[in-house]
Amino acid sequence: MKTNIYHITHTPATDSVSLRFWGCNMACLGCLCKEGIYDHLLKDDDQKYFANAPNAPERLLDLDQVLDRLDELNPRRIYLTGEEATLDPNYAAITKAFHEQFNSENVLYTNGFKMPSMDDTDSVEVGIKAITEELHQWYTGRSAEPVKNNFIRYARSGVRLTAASILIPGLVEIAEIERIAQFIAGIDRNIPYYVLPYFPAGENKWRKTKPEEVAEAVERVSRYLTNVSGCQGVKKEILHEVERVV
Ligand code: SF4
Repeated sequence: MKTNIYHITHTPATDSVSLRFWGCNMACLGCLCKEGIYDHLLKDDDQKYFANAPNAPERLLDLDQVLDRLDELNPRRIYLTGEEATLDPNYAAITKAFHEQFNSENVLYTNGFKMPSMDDTDSVEVGIKAITEELHQWYTGRSAEPVKNNFIRYARSGVRLTAASILIPGLVEIAEIERIAQFIAGIDRNIPYYVLPYFPAGENKWRKTKPEEVAEAVERVSRYLTNVSGCQGVKKEILHEVERVV
């Protein structure tokens, strides 16, 4: 069975693997994939391996190939990440196979635009790019409405749900992050929310987010939500070594 998976990494310290799926239904202007389609946390040796890699995968893996490679690792947790795993026509079969073979926690990272079968997904993190319709449309090329509706459906589905947003100076400012937090709080103020920094990618004018800007956003949105964290985007936060599998 074909999958959209093209790259797999392993983090031994957390007994987890991360699967990258090719293809997306948004076109974010600051998408990090514009700077490279392989795991940015890889060790230097692996970075060199991908130094001259193309900006699209040369091949997609069969499910049997994925299971074979994961069998050696028997991971406790499997991250289904992107671009966008929800677009894989075999998403349900893939997550079912992971449960059956590894009894893993299957964690989906998604932009929220499409909601796949949740039968074998344990946790979901929705990356909410913006909540103001015009801004979301302009930045991603898509309406925010399906994202909002699906977020509500995820919250009601019983899956472990978290949300994250990227603070982009000059575009997705703290006021917009506050609006996103208010939307989440309207559903459940205990849903964990992560404020992430922007790393420049693509042809645009936005700069990297400063740690103090993330800290201020965390403080501001903590008025609405009980569980808010920030990532400052400094090297010491990357605690574990990541290894290339495929
Ligand atoms: S949703 Fe994610 S993968 Fe898709 S274009 Fe936006 S940043 Fe890139």
